[in-house]
Amino acid sequence: MLNFSFANSTRIHFGEGQIKAIAKEIPTDAKVLLLYGGGSIKSNGIYDQLTAVLVNHSVVEFSGIEPNPSYETLMKAQPLITEHQVDYILAVGGGSVIDGAKFIAAAACYEGDDPWDIIAKGQRIKAALSIGAVLTLPATGSESNTGSVVTRDGHKGAFASQHVRPKFAVLDPTVTLSLSDRQIGNGVVDAFVHTVEQYLTYSVNAKVQDRFAEGLLETLIEEGPKALTPATKNDIAVRANIMWAASLALNGLIGAGVPQDWTTHMIGHELTAAHGIDHARTLSIMLPAVLKIRREVKRDKLLQYAARVWAIDTTDEEAAIDKAIAATEGFFIAMGMPIRLADIKLGQEHIDTLLNNLVQHGMVKLGEQGAVTPEISRQILETAL
Ligand code: NAP
Ligand code: FE
Repeated sequence: MLNFSFANSTRIHFGEGQIKAIAKEIPTDAKVLLLYGGGSIKSNGIYDQLTAVLVNHSVVEFSGIEPNPSYETLMKAQPLITEHQVDYILAVGGGSVIDGAKFIAAAACYEGDDPWDIIAKGQRIKAALSIGAVLTLPATGSESNTGSVVTRDGHKGAFASQHVRPKFAVLDPTVTLSLSDRQIGNGVVDAFVHTVEQYLTYSVNAKVQDRFAEGLLETLIEEGPKALTPATKNDIAVRANIMWAASLALNGLIGAGVPQDWTTHMIGHELTAAHGIDHARTLSIMLPAVLKIRREVKRDKLLQYAARVWAIDTTDEEAAIDKAIAATEGFFIAMGMPIRLADIKLGQEHIDTLLNNLVQHGMVKLGEQGAVTPEISRQILETAL
């Protein structure tokens, strides 16, 4: 196991009706910015619940945060923050709204010229406004982690800081009942890939993290398809298990003390930035190709994954790895996801540009040991055709 320091300070309020916890979490003298996306919270009743809960708070609203939030949209919140002296942001939505809240919170306290430097130049932030989250789409783990992904001019970039970790998060599985099948598939697969990226690396004998990761993967494999099946899709226990698994997949716990390989996410970000593909759909395409090209580095863990997660019982190691990757692809298909670039109508002619963008954004030493060069990224993209 590698050395690590671990703390996760986000207080989670989990379960039906927990939205009422907001009233006590946010001080009544706070100036609150209620942040949300395209309006799903108005049609599914969350907005009305919030209005009732925040009756004693001073609240201004900013909406219209789009999926894969853009710098331009997020910066439009800044004048509102100054005008109303906002000191607490309540983000209500999926990863895009919560990531957007993190950037807005950091930008409001940034002392440099252009807050984009937090991402483009990796400028460390010294402070941020307080954030609370009401999660409506289980997927990213953003509700209790330090990460944020923002897009500007074709660059989907990330930053992380303890200052933007939400103080609290409400996880009520009943609010996920209004999700479309597409967003359910996206969420389950994003969480699955986050887990894999902290698990399928070279082995460091981290038995606790491995068992946690395997438990999360098995939960997503068992419960994910149920959330797409008419007879079980409205079962709150199914939604609850998915919601908690997705949160634990990227709250820092399973990633403490293990190597991490974010190649799938980094190549995926270029696919979203250049072609507007949903975040998780880039991952279901890239992960199988990453595992195929990096199978030697990951051999021991791929065999462990085959035996423990997929119960593949064979002494033929090559066959076991092939079957585990095929089973992963089968799961993605069952969740309604694409697994090849051809499935989203991209071909060989798009690869040069994607690679150029990857290099331009500094993604030239990917993988758990920095060994994934642009040439290896090319092989991965070609394998995904
Ligand atoms: P999202 O982009 O936040 O939301 C996708 C769509 O789902 C939106 O149209 C949203 O509508 C809708 N939606 C959300 N909740 C709903 C509900 N309960 N009922 C009906 N519709 C609902 O999706 P996401 O997958 O959670 O977030 C993706 C973003 O997170 C990407 O930018 C990705 O790069 C980033 N990400 C962040 C991390 C991290 O650690 N911070 C990790 C992985 C990915 P509204 O607009 O109306 O809300
Ligand atoms: Fe993700």
